[in-house]
Amino acid sequence: MRVRLKGGRVLDPANAENGVASGAVRDVEILDGRIVAATDLRADAEYELAGDIVMAGGIDMHSHIAGGKMNLARLLMQEDRRAFPELPGAFCGCGGGRAAPTAHATGCRYSELGYTTVFEPAMVGANARGAHLEMADIPNLDTGAYLVLGSDDYLQRLMAAGAGQEQINAYVGWMIEATQAFAIKIVNPGGINAFKFNARKLDLDEANPYYEVTPRRVLTTLIRAVTELGVPHPIHLHGCNLGVPGNDETTLATIAATEGRRLHMTHLQFHSYGTEGDRRFSSSAARIAEMVNANPNISVDVGQVMFGQTVTASADYMSQYRNRGIASPNKSIGMDIELDAACGVVPFEYKDKSFVNALQWAIGLELFLLVEDPWRVFLTTDHPNGGPFTTYPHLIRLLMDRDFRNAQLATLNKAAQAHTLLAGITREYSLEEIAILTRAGPARILGLADKGHLAPGGVGDVVVYAEDADREAMFSQARLVFKNGRLVVKDGAVVETVSGTTHVVRPEFDRGIETDIDRWFDEAVGLKAKHFRVQDHELRHGAGPTVLTCEGVR
Ligand SMILES: [Zn+2]
Repeated sequence: MRVRLKGGRVLDPANAENGVASGAVRDVEILDGRIVAATDLRADAEYELAGDIVMAGGIDMHSHIAGGKMNLARLLMQEDRRAFPELPGAFCGCGGGRAAPTAHATGCRYSELGYTTVFEPAMVGANARGAHLEMADIPNLDTGAYLVLGSDDYLQRLMAAGAGQEQINAYVGWMIEATQAFAIKIVNPGGINAFKFNARKLDLDEANPYYEVTPRRVLTTLIRAVTELGVPHPIHLHGCNLGVPGNDETTLATIAATEGRRLHMTHLQFHSYGTEGDRRFSSSAARIAEMVNANPNISVDVGQVMFGQTVTASADYMSQYRNRGIASPNKSIGMDIELDAACGVVPFEYKDKSFVNALQWAIGLELFLLVEDPWRVFLTTDHPNGGPFTTYPHLIRLLMDRDFRNAQLATLNKAAQAHTLLAGITREYSLEEIAILTRAGPARILGLADKGHLAPGGVGDVVVYAEDADREAMFSQARLVFKNGRLVVKDGAVVETVSGTTHVVRPEFDRGIETDIDRWFDEAVGLKAKHFRVQDHELRHGAGPTVLTCEGVR
């Protein structure tokens, strides 16, 4: 099947280094699901795209789309599906929802926006099987999941006992393989574990009350593990003290703790708070952006706050426990998971007239606009924690249109307006930069060589947007979306659902660790290690994963 996209303006920043001018008008051709060099051969389908913008499929590197906490969020937020019911006459009649959409609706809404790959950033080992079954039910998207480690008792015990790095690497490698993970996520390093020993905060150099391991040690040990195992994506860190005024110092200390090794810091907005002013809550975005700019080993995503109703769902029960009193509607769930991790679900409404919420909004935008290198900052709302992913088109307009941004700012809480630099920031993102933030950059930081670009050999995930000066309108409804060369969206509506794949990595590790892991599962876990392991045939209804190999970096 040969598909030809004729005469669109092709924004392909990842390909610019091959001498192909990004932004040039040219044809893009897909043969049997892969991009090929343009030909004159007869095509099975041809589209005239004069005046349209062509980009690679969008890649969201951090969005909570599957796993135990999202199922709990759906359970808790039935009003979400009443407020956003299924659309009459929609192609799939999917169950709807916005803050906690069903798996099916997740795939449909993402593909309408022009996204073709989304990563679930917080899969707990004990929930891995469920997370994979759920991801298989999301249509039109390739997925992958980051495994949460750091507060697990096995690792804490290894570290407390002074285990060598080799042994830790073997455990991390085994866990990645057993849970079919793509990367390692750390959530509040060791803090979720410390919470169970009655700690209510745990800063970078505070010791776990029981294991006496510090977050700094968890972080540096796991950074070393993924580096030595050759996992392409660096440690994906949700740092200490999320949401706490004054956490800016912790965030700066965390960057310094990397000593130049690669680290991805997620939802940085929630970690950029100072304590200045009479309300003891202020923006540290400028200080933090400066530190990010000076440290090329650091990449970040923002976790932008968007106003309106959402639900927050996090493995960081230490912070969710703090927030449960401000739940809106007033209900929440907190739970332990197999003694290894935890989960907190707290509904929340971000209000533009609230000082704190308005300043959070401004802090996120300050970070976007003050971090200079678009290859090291990614567009996220930490769906659904800062807001649903369906708000991305509005966020893109805020980044691209200074007048629009300042008009929004002028309607917010007055005190918050006085506490932000935003009105004086003149930067506007270009379309080219948006293509980097939402496609080319994520592909690069994730190590996905055949995604995020439109060079021959790339996957046939291609999106066409009708050029529109109103960028929110433009990005709300893709004109055409091709998934592996198949047309799945036309004029902003899903016209077909196809199955994606699940990306996993497979590091080499010392299998001698298995004797000890078997013993641990027999002693401490509710099932045997061999049953904990998720088999290939359990992924994607039997189709199995797409494996990215690891080359050890030593
Ligand atoms: Zn998140």
